[in-house]
Amino acid sequence: MSRVYNFSAGPAVLPEEVLKEAAAEMLDYNGTGMSVMEMSHRSKAYQEIIDAAEQDLRDLMNIPDNYKVLFLQGGASTQFAMIPMNLMKNGVADYIVTGQWAKKAYQEAQKFGKANKIASSEDKTFSYIPDCSDLPISEDADYVYICENNTIYGTKYKTLPNTKGKTLVADVSSCFLSEPVDVTKYGVIYGGVQKNIGPAGVVIVIIREDLIPDEPLEGVPTMLQYKTHADNGSMYNTPPAYGIYICGKVFKWLKKMGGLEEMQKRNIEKAKILYDFLDESELFKGTVVKEDRSLMNVPFVTGDTDLDAKFVKEAKEAGFENLKGHRTVGGMRASIYNAMPIEGVKKLVEFMRKFEAENK
Ligand SMILES: *Cc1c(COP(=O)(O)O)cnc(C)c1O
Repeated sequence: MSRVYNFSAGPAVLPEEVLKEAAAEMLDYNGTGMSVMEMSHRSKAYQEIIDAAEQDLRDLMNIPDNYKVLFLQGGASTQFAMIPMNLMKNGVADYIVTGQWAKKAYQEAQKFGKANKIASSEDKTFSYIPDCSDLPISEDADYVYICENNTIYGTKYKTLPNTKGKTLVADVSSCFLSEPVDVTKYGVIYGGVQKNIGPAGVVIVIIREDLIPDEPLEGVPTMLQYKTHADNGSMYNTPPAYGIYICGKVFKWLKKMGGLEEMQKRNIEKAKILYDFLDESELFKGTVVKEDRSLMNVPFVTGDTDLDAKFVKEAKEAGFENLKGHRTVGGMRASIYNAMPIEGVKKLVEFMRKFEAENK
């Protein structure tokens, strides 16, 4: 068996320890004589799995009791609709568009009410985060929406926008559990887990209880009401059972590693190795303004598309997978999520140095 260094943006690298545990429990989970995949979601064994997953996530993020934790399906993209469908009581929301995911969410919200684009960084291909200290927040906005870490462009909010008292909603798909967060600053935090937590197929929504409408807004399907899932402990219907089980294992791994403070420390250290190299390199350069650099997704280019392609090809041959940039931006992107070991980043930089020397 040989494992590569996988720099995929998602689905992405998972902790090897978690994969080994899951393998060991594949045929017989904890004396049940069956795999978690084969288990009734109404069984006692499964209830314990989902309860522990929720509790461990609450512990890691310090989630207050007045927030619900929901394990849903449909990916982050379904939330682009579910958020306005549940939260647009006045029919108005403000969006800060800092990349493709925020833009898609903004476009989707237009189907359900008045969505205002109050700031954007599209003028410079989303290579920065706009100043959000004094934005024209709408009087009657139901919420202000951000994508906190831009997976494709590699920017991250270092300070949250001033929402002037309005509810903040954040897509944290690609920075979920990468650093400590103050949950009380948000009304909704959500993300697909396939970037930094677990297998594709689960989306986690952390929502302040008072934002969940008692009476659904008109015409919202049962499955798309937060209330349906909140009232039923994410078990209104069959949840993505195996995916939640793996997420639970990752939460335990994170706790064992020292929690989110420790992950942040490691993530800063890992990202610094790569950014320091990009800053000194004469061949490679980062594409994002320094102040807004993501710790998770690091895009870079040589400035020559043929050379970029050569790099991606040779890197792959050397065991560094999925370094090709997003299909819409080209170049390269190294996603260095929690589960990417520091050696992976060090070896990548070593390889980049060698490539640079050979291609001067
Ligand atoms: C990947 C990604 C999405 C889309 O997730 P799906 O689960 O494929 O719907 C949305 N937002 C961000 C920030 C992402 O990185």
